[in-house]
Amino acid sequence: MKKAIEIKALDDDETLAALKMPKFGLLKPVRCSKCNHSGSFARRVFAVSGVPVSKFSDDATQEAIHAYITSHFGIAHVFFKSPGSGKKLYIDSAICPECQSTMIVFDIQLTSDFFDEVSRVVGHPNEKERRRLK
Ligand SMILES: [Zn+2]
Repeated sequence: MKKAIEIKALDDDETLAALKMPKFGLLKPVRCSKCNHSGSFARRVFAVSGVPVSKFSDDATQEAIHAYITSHFGIAHVFFKSPGSGKKLYIDSAICPECQSTMIVFDIQLTSDFFDEVSRVVGHPNEKERRRLK
């Protein structure tokens, strides 16, 4: 039997806990595309269940979830994240405190820590490449 996808809006405490998870905070709201506000933003985070890990980055799955969030919660921009162990899917979004827009630009901080983190997550592509060449 096919499992239904469930999307749950996190409350304030759960949102704070999610924001503290490793890798969750790398991609952050930086600017409102409507009024150009930058600084702090209110966050809306959702936990998704019923999606197999192999489908986390599936376009059709993400589009369906995005459409659901837009119609039920009126949020324009959403970001899919699977922090920590990578076994749970979350959706991150932000609201502009100035104009209440949800069209918020998210950006990633390109630090060397970030690149270390990425190569750990994807399993050191450079090493694999080298092994293949031997
Ligand atoms: Zn704004």
